[in-house]
Formats: sequence, C-alpha cells, structure tokens
Amino acid sequence: MTRTTTDTVGIVGGGIAGLAAAHRLQRAGHDVRIFEASSSIGGLAATYETAGNPIEKFYHHLSKSEHTIVELASQLGLGTAVEWRVGKNAYYVDGEVHPLDKPWEILAYPHMSLYDKVRLALLTKEIDLRRGVPKFDTYDDIEAFEEMPVKEFIVEHTTRGIYENFFEPLLDAKFGDRKDEVSAAWLLGRVKFRGERDLLRGEILGYFDGGFARLIDALIEAVGRENITTGARATDIELSGGQARRLVTERNGEKERHDVDHVIVAAMPNVLEELTGYSCDIEFQGTVCSVLSLEESLMDTYWLNIADEAPFGVLIEYERLRWLPSGPRSSRRGRRRREPAALRESFRARR
Ligand SMILES: Cc1cc2nc3c(=O)[nH]c(=O)nc-3n(C[C@H](O)[C@H](O)[C@H](O)COP(=O)(O)OP(=O)(O)OC[C@H]3O[C@@H](n4cnc5c(N)ncnc54)[C@H](O)[C@@H]3O)c2cc1C
Repeated sequence: MTRTTTDTVGIVGGGIAGLAAAHRLQRAGHDVRIFEASSSIGGLAATYETAGNPIEKFYHHLSKSEHTIVELASQLGLGTAVEWRVGKNAYYVDGEVHPLDKPWEILAYPHMSLYDKVRLALLTKEIDLRRGVPKFDTYDDIEAFEEMPVKEFIVEHTTRGIYENFFEPLLDAKFGDRKDEVSAAWLLGRVKFRGERDLLRGEILGYFDGGFARLIDALIEAVGRENITTGARATDIELSGGQARRLVTERNGEKERHDVDHVIVAAMPNVLEELTGYSCDIEFQGTVCSVLSLEESLMDTYWLNIADEAPFGVLIEYERLRWLPSGPRSSRRGRRRREPAALRESFRARR
C-alpha cells in the first residue's frame, strides 16, 4: 500500500470500533494512537474472567447480515474462525417455555392465531401485506420509519394481536415505560439484523471459535500494542485554526497532551459531546446484564424471551452458542438438562 500523507490520528476508545478504525487508518498509511479509559481493551465485547469460563462482558454473536465484521475477520486471518451455529430461541409465557425455532414449534405456539403467525412471518421476511397485496420494497428505507412509533407501525403493518401477544411483552422488558418512544426504525433494524433462519433448525448466528477475544486479540496485534494506551481517559481536544492539534488524556491523575492531526471519537455520543461540544441529541437507556456461572445447564435454549413479571426480559444460556473447542465441551456432556418445570421453579424461587 502506498503512503500518501502520514497524519497522526488520535482515537478515543479501544472497543471494536476504535480498534477497527485504527486498523483501517494504518492500512491507509496513517499513524494511529488509541486511548482507552479502562484497563482492558475491547469495550463491551472485551472478555473477562468469571467463576467458570472467561466470557465477553456482554453476550455477543454475529448475524449473517454483518458482512463488514466477517470481512474484517478474514483480513485478520480469522476467516475460518467465524462459525455459524443455530442459536435456539424460545418464549417463556404463563410459566411455560415455548421453543420457536422449527416450523412445527411455531405452529404449535398457543398464544397467537395462525393468521397472526403468518403475518409475523411475512414481516420478518420484510413483506408488506397491507390491503392484501404483497409488497417487497416497503421496508428498504428504514429512515422513512424513524418518526413512526413502533406500536403504531406493528398494529398498522401487521395486527393488534401480534403487538399485544408477541411484541408488547418484549418491548416492556427492554424499554419499560419508555416503550412508546421507540421508533419503528429500531424494530426494522432488528428484523434486518436478525433475519437469517435455517427453515428446519432455526436462527443462524455467528460466533468466533474461542470467542470474540480472538477478534480483539487479532486487532490488537495488527494495530500494535505499543499504539494503544489503557487507563487513559480523553478529557479534551485542543484545536488551532479549527483543526485538532492535541488530544488531552488523564492517566493516574496526570494530564498528558498528545500531538495529533485528527481525532476519532469511537466511544458513546456523550463523550463526543463532552470533547467537542457537538450536540448529539441521543438519549441513552442503560442495560444491565447479570452473569451467573452455573455448574449445570439450565435450559435447552440460547435465547429465552421472558413474558413474565421476572425482573429481566431475556435469559441467555451463553454456552448454548459458544461451544468452546476444548474443555467445557467435554464437561458439558455430563450436564443434566433442566426440564421446563425446573426452570419454572427457578423463576418462582427468584421472586
Ligand atoms: C448487552 C449488549 C449486547 C450486545 N450484543 C451484541 C451482539 O450480539 N452483536 C453485535 O454485533 N453487537 C452487540 N452489541 C453491540 C456491540 O457491543 C457494540 O456495537 C460494539 O461492541 C460497540 O463497540 P464500540 O467500539 O463502538 O463501543 P464500546 O465497546 O462501548 O467501546 C467504547 C470504548 O470507549 C471507551 N471510552 C469511553 N469514554 C472514553 C474516554 N473519554 N476516553 C477514552 N476511552 C473512552 C470505553 O471504555 C470503551 O472501551 C451489544 C451491546 C450490548 C450492550
């Protein structure tokens, strides 16, 4: 690759976005320096030690629609490390676990009419059946739905039954009393993100053999550990003539100034606001993920949506997707599978 200018780019944030930006900029011939506030690299997808296996701080999988990250993995020599697996889904309603992967499981689901199931299936295939005539391009432009509340969209584009019996409990669990503020564009984004299904087995999800740590480690190696400073919180960008000249960080209580030609903020929009004053006007809602290390498997499902008074909306048995290449796989063989009744008891015990 030919180098044109050698600008130094300061990058705020050592999550996947910061690391990937650094990697691309280096390939384009620039010098990069990443400043990460925390002591570990990888952001939300960083791996940490637990009482069981080391896992990502927040569950992570890939969807078949995520071509960019798969291409990045290939560039880093990890093309064969991305494994596509069935991520089993189920819905917990009225004390019962209802698997929703295979066509006959979906047909057997008792909380929706057959008509509603067909309309929901059409929506997931992005087919608009309003007025009885199938249209295939209605949902291509997600931005066109940004101003439409998700409830209005679902009721108008499918049925009230689908909203009340399928989506509303999920929206309650995810957004609580702010669910009416959620845009239809969010839902359509999810449909596009999690759309790929194997007709006979269920949703296909990607996971790195050995976890997302493989991707983070490969990015760190590509970028060069010497170009990444951890424990360094960016606090200011000094400008001259409208251009970034210095990135100010705080490390161990000491301020440090770094000469830069450009700055990329690869952190939450509020960090961009604090550093530049540029108003992002994006509201946040926090997410809490509790991790429990269990000695035995709790359920036969990767992703269990919960329509219940339980204080959480999703129960994820991460090992159902992870299938690490060694160690846990053998111990899993001896694991007892808990039947739905046992799961129900676990819920009762928690209340
Ligand atoms: C619960 C949960 C589950 C998710 N699951 C998936 C999934 O399955 N698949 C998927 O594709 N995506 C998933 N995501 C989204 C995905 O995690 C993020 O899109 C991606 O990891 C974000 O990477 P990032 O680099 O943009 O940000 P982050 O990972 O948030 O990294 C930003 C970094 O910036 C650092 N930082 C912040 N402020 C400063 C500062 N002032 N100075 C220096 N550093 C700073 C932070 O410490 C952090 O390390 C999930 C997100 C959550 C919350």
